[in-house]
Amino acid sequence: MNILVMKFGGTSLADPEKIQRAAARVARARRRGFAVAAVVSAPGQMTDELLSLARRVARRAPARELDSLMAAGEQISIALLASALSGRGAPSVSLTGAQAGVRARGPHGASEIAGVRPARVLAELARGRVAVVAGFQGVDGKGDLATLGRGGSDLTAAALAAALKAWACEIYTDVKGVYTADPRLVPEARKIGKISFSEMLALAEAGAQVMQPRSISFARSRGVRLHVRSAFHDAEGTWIGPDAAGENGVKALAVERVGVRARVSAVGRGLRPEDAEATRKILRSCGIACRRAELSAFRASCEVDAREAVPALRALHKAWQLGRRAA
Ligand code: ASP
Ligand code: MG
Repeated sequence: MNILVMKFGGTSLADPEKIQRAAARVARARRRGFAVAAVVSAPGQMTDELLSLARRVARRAPARELDSLMAAGEQISIALLASALSGRGAPSVSLTGAQAGVRARGPHGASEIAGVRPARVLAELARGRVAVVAGFQGVDGKGDLATLGRGGSDLTAAALAAALKAWACEIYTDVKGVYTADPRLVPEARKIGKISFSEMLALAEAGAQVMQPRSISFARSRGVRLHVRSAFHDAEGTWIGPDAAGENGVKALAVERVGVRARVSAVGRGLRPEDAEATRKILRSCGIACRRAELSAFRASCEVDAREAVPALRALHKAWQLGRRAA
């Protein structure tokens, strides 16, 4: 069986029409010969809405009950996507985290995946059905529902892809891939064709919101190839794969708010003190002070005043010609 994991985020499932589009995509992959396990998030902003509902009935709802509540969002998505697939003549079955064999451990609200027993999913795929699996949830040692931290559907997708030995794990989202910088802030930003796990992890930790950091380190440790792509366009997105290949140097920028300041980070492989110095110099030449600098093998960061964050990003993007060099 050639297995493909297709993960759909909340924005890709926000209304009935989008759910239909996701179903069409899954059905197409199936017609191309893939056995598909689809992993889904809660529709739209539902997880936040459920949390605010809980706050209206109890000032501090018990973490166990919050897990039970939040997991409901993903259960709505599996039932709807499986129904949409059936409507298109693609046999499918919805599975909760527990039914899909996702075992969790650790505190409610921030559990980790202890393991995946993929027998049920494999059996459904072998019968020719699409397995539609609820992301973000598992079952703990007591048999209780446990959630995996915000954005945890990405982790479910990576873990399921590893357990199923999938060909790849596709992450469908509302952007076309991973960019050299957030295109809403830097208009010249370009889509990156390929990036390594460690670069992507550094980018996520530096504030890029595309994928949950834990899911990237999981994929790196298990060698799960990730493909971040748009749910609404057919073009290839960004492939995330082994660290071995690739050029040294700055590849992308990210920004994160830290109180009244912002941390602007340049991410790339093999960064050296010279790269950190260059960052400071470029900013200084535009009159932007670097208040605190940090350097690691994959990231050179500067803290700047929050209102200078966007000019800083634009200046660095231009100076390193990231718009031109990116694939
Ligand atoms: N629905 C959950 C959240 O909003 C999990 C996810 O989207 O991945 O955090
Ligand atoms: Mg997400």
